[in-house]
Amino acid sequence: MRIRPLEVGTALTAFFDLQATDSAFRHTCHPQMSEIGWNAYLSFLERKKLAPFEPRENNGRAHVSFVAGPVGFNCDLAVWFAMSCFEEESPPTDSEMYVWKQLMRCFAIGHAMEEELYQWVTPALEIYYAPRGIEITRMDFEWPIFRDKPHLAGDKELLAGTADVRFEYVEKGNLRVGVVDFKSTSVGRADKRSRTTGIEAEAEYVRQVSTYLEPIEADWGALVYWIKQWDHGFQQAEVERRPGYYQKTIRRLDGIYGDVAVARPSPATPGSHCRKCPFRGACQEVTDMHVGA
Ligand code: SF4
Repeated sequence: MRIRPLEVGTALTAFFDLQATDSAFRHTCHPQMSEIGWNAYLSFLERKKLAPFEPRENNGRAHVSFVAGPVGFNCDLAVWFAMSCFEEESPPTDSEMYVWKQLMRCFAIGHAMEEELYQWVTPALEIYYAPRGIEITRMDFEWPIFRDKPHLAGDKELLAGTADVRFEYVEKGNLRVGVVDFKSTSVGRADKRSRTTGIEAEAEYVRQVSTYLEPIEADWGALVYWIKQWDHGFQQAEVERRPGYYQKTIRRLDGIYGDVAVARPSPATPGSHCRKCPFRGACQEVTDMHVGA
């Protein structure tokens, strides 16, 4: 039986509307705050979050966001680099620094906004769903996907990841588990995502949340987008369970892990995704080695 996800985006919008008379709330986060207030808020977040370059942690596991992303999803060699302990991303060069900083600023604002939602989502869901007979019984943030799952210890050696929010609720006497990932978005991308048939989420985000559902044993998953510009609304896209998808991902990572263990590069699949690959330099070296051999 299909279990319908809770409407987290609608609950958050309703919660914001409820706070419209609270001036403290309004000045920090209400969606109807002025553009100047909003820009000040963004620059505050930027100061708080912008950090120097640090290579991603490299511990022999692949991160879900990379495996589900266009590069990791399409190319085993890129995942092989991500899992290999001897290869790390290089810091941006001087000529790349300007663009890199812009990108980091954009990510920092997005991450800060997503974290801001953590403090509002619990009261938003409680207020919205209590009159509808649904009781929120537990909320957890940054939930590691293998937490409390000793039988998946082998998978944990291959894959790392956390879901933004995992929550439990009781609906008509049944305990349900939902998983939500928050994403910030621009008005332009939000418009593109809207279709007459509903919200069309990016394939990489859908794959990311799909991967969480099985190890977490969630009944459903959803992506909730917070629009950064006026009118700061929300979009929500459901992520259904995909039977077999998680196992297929683990089998693939297991094969790549075997290649890492014997220092044999996994097969490369070049394509348009190479433009976004952080391992282009290392890939070229591997290719040159093969040509030389
Ligand atoms: S540059 Fe392209 S082919 Fe090489 S590892 Fe990256 S994605 Fe794969």
